[in-house]
Amino acid sequence: MKHSNLNKFETKAIRLQMSRTQQAEHSAPLFLTSSFVFDDAQQGEALFAEQLDGNIYSRFTNPNVDEFERKMAALEGMEDCLATSSGMSAIFFSMIALLKQGDHLLISRSVFGNTYKIVNEILPRYGIEASFIDVDKPQHWSSAIQSNSKMIFVETPTNPTLQLVDLQRLAKLGKEHNLLTNVDNCMATPYLQQPAEYGIDIVTHSATKFIDGQGRVLGGAIIANNKIIDSIRKFSRSTGPCLSPFNAWILSKSLETLALRMQRHCDNALLVAKYLEKHPKVNLVYYPQLASHPQYELAQWQMRAGGGLVTFELIDDNAHTLLNQLQLFSLSGNLGDTRSIATHPATTTHSKLSIQEQQLVGITPKLIRLSIGLEHIDDILADLDQAL
Ligand SMILES: *Cc1c(COP(=O)(O)O)cnc(C)c1O
Repeated sequence: MKHSNLNKFETKAIRLQMSRTQQAEHSAPLFLTSSFVFDDAQQGEALFAEQLDGNIYSRFTNPNVDEFERKMAALEGMEDCLATSSGMSAIFFSMIALLKQGDHLLISRSVFGNTYKIVNEILPRYGIEASFIDVDKPQHWSSAIQSNSKMIFVETPTNPTLQLVDLQRLAKLGKEHNLLTNVDNCMATPYLQQPAEYGIDIVTHSATKFIDGQGRVLGGAIIANNKIIDSIRKFSRSTGPCLSPFNAWILSKSLETLALRMQRHCDNALLVAKYLEKHPKVNLVYYPQLASHPQYELAQWQMRAGGGLVTFELIDDNAHTLLNQLQLFSLSGNLGDTRSIATHPATTTHSKLSIQEQQLVGITPKLIRLSIGLEHIDDILADLDQAL
């Protein structure tokens, strides 16, 4: 493959591809093979001694996984990527492979439920402690830093209230205090923001959401410089959180349409946010690209568009009634699908949080999260309208 014209996001997402085989295929084939053969015994020895680059076994490398990793690294504008079996394994390995007993981690209170669990329940068993920080009080973050702090982890925009973290400010804090900055970029995808542009060290993804975008497979990715990915890769080769070649093949094809899909998710979501903002039964709407969003200015400069999620709070306490009235929207805990989804965070995705913990991140019983799909906007709005 000649790679002379791969400047733009869309072109990289489509044209970065594994080398063509003798079959002259146009679209990359699927390599469902657990292991690979050696030309001779000496080559086998050299591959195992890591004197030679090449495939040995699909827990280490696989052509489909490699293609997906190269694309993700290119789209995030970083050197290297390790693909993983799910978003959670990406997040877990980005922590466990880089931290050790006695280290301390700072983490935003507004993170995905299982991320909270890893940090709150699992890492302490291995002697890694954490302090929680509030996304809306960045002036307090530095006071949570300890002499043994090694990493700071955030999501932006947050789920479900879509608050933003100023990535430039976060990267600066990390550099000043020698902390690795780790950003879960699942909600935005590299199409809307590339944290590396602001100096962030590590980006993690659940590729299960907008990257697949069609609700089919699980996958994850960790993207960083060569040194960081090399050390995580050493860890993962032995411990096995690898992405399956089939899922990598799906996800690599999905990336080809990421820009188109994300743009439509965002266009539809902005129209939904504007519609809800005017509705008499709606108390407030969270969407980064609404002028009423407290971080509207930051959203304008940090994100290409507002993303596919819209969260809103009803005036009356009838969230379940409203959800049951929806006909087009699916009721699911998932997000980032072609199909629009409505979720009640308080009783589903965030139900494991105590009432106090829910309040700290803005979750109330009246709150509904919408993941706006790619159906026609008229049908999406009509469904919300009849349900409200
Ligand atoms: C879904 C999600 C995850 C977990 O990803 P899986 O692929 O389900 O393991 C992590 N972070 C965020 C922000 C998510 O939405």
